[in-house]
Amino acid sequence: MVSVYNYSEDDFKDYLIANNEKPFRAKQLIEWLYRHKISSFDEMTNIKKDFIEKLKNDFIIDDLECVTKQKASDGTQKFLFRLNDGNLIETVLMNNEYGYSVCVTTQVGCNMGCEFCASGMKKKLRSLETSEIVLQILMAEKLSGIKISHIVVMGIGEPFDNYDNVLRFIRIVNHPLGLQIGSRHITVSTCGIVPKIYEFSDFDIQVNLAISLHAPNNEIRSQIMKINKTYSIDKIVEAIKYYISKTNRRVTIEYILLHSINDTLACANELCDLLHGLNIYVNLIPYNEVIEKPFKRSTKDDMMAFFDLLKKRRINVQLRREQGGDIDAACGQLRSKQMKKEEL
Ligand code: SAH
Repeated sequence: MVSVYNYSEDDFKDYLIANNEKPFRAKQLIEWLYRHKISSFDEMTNIKKDFIEKLKNDFIIDDLECVTKQKASDGTQKFLFRLNDGNLIETVLMNNEYGYSVCVTTQVGCNMGCEFCASGMKKKLRSLETSEIVLQILMAEKLSGIKISHIVVMGIGEPFDNYDNVLRFIRIVNHPLGLQIGSRHITVSTCGIVPKIYEFSDFDIQVNLAISLHAPNNEIRSQIMKINKTYSIDKIVEAIKYYISKTNRRVTIEYILLHSINDTLACANELCDLLHGLNIYVNLIPYNEVIEKPFKRSTKDDMMAFFDLLKKRRINVQLRREQGGDIDAACGQLRSKQMKKEEL
């Protein structure tokens, strides 16, 4: 049996056609599942009984088991879910001035091996199914009672290492009869899997692309991000240029500020040179320290000096506001705590 949340409208259409049903019923299914949020097929009053039985045989309307729910003083909520095979994933709900956003996980663990990141300490066990990503949104809404308006694909895992399922997830949550999360309210973040950046340039839904750059040159980037040995900065910049030329969209450059590693004014200048003339904006991110890692957060003064230099050199830049500081906010921390507990 397949989870209903694995199917986009097109997948349902194919299924309906294969079962001699009218393809327009795909829209009805999307409405029942995502607007009315049914928990049983019997609730679908405009579908014939025998077809409901058929659906019941082929699909399951499943959910995720919530193991822990934390709430920070600033309203950030963090959920730890257990998947059917026992694996744990984290989902974070944030309260922003513009609405509520959810940060979703795309893989169990991560193989990208970024030195500063807590998620990568556990190797990838598998990629998530589309349904397991979709359910993070549905469960976050259900458990919080909040309507989500924005999604960031920035949780544990590398979305471009689970490309097809992430794109199907976007189609489902963006559907105008379903959750209706606007394409411009969805951001996908990658550590820089270059061939997928090219492929993503042809994706017909106009979502935002963010690139985790974190360094202004190959020397520093290769020290902190293993992926740079495969896809170097110059290849990434080329891919970004292509993406911008195809989509006409501004790309976000993520840059974590790590004390004495990438936060000097020389680095800031080099970053400006690298990005000069590109339709980008830089999101400077205060580092969330991870106990097991040697990296330290930049000082406030260094962060401000870096920010000011970028501004002065006319690079669009913002310093990310921190959220959920009092609830294991750094990616992967809630999951690794629970895993340690369960090992005992
Ligand atoms: N794999 C994707 C998406 C998941 S990580 C990517 O690399 O973009 C989402 C973002 O969080 C990335 O920019 C990542 O570098 C950053 N990140 C990881 N660990 C962090 C930490 N401890 N503090 C701040 N940002 C972190």
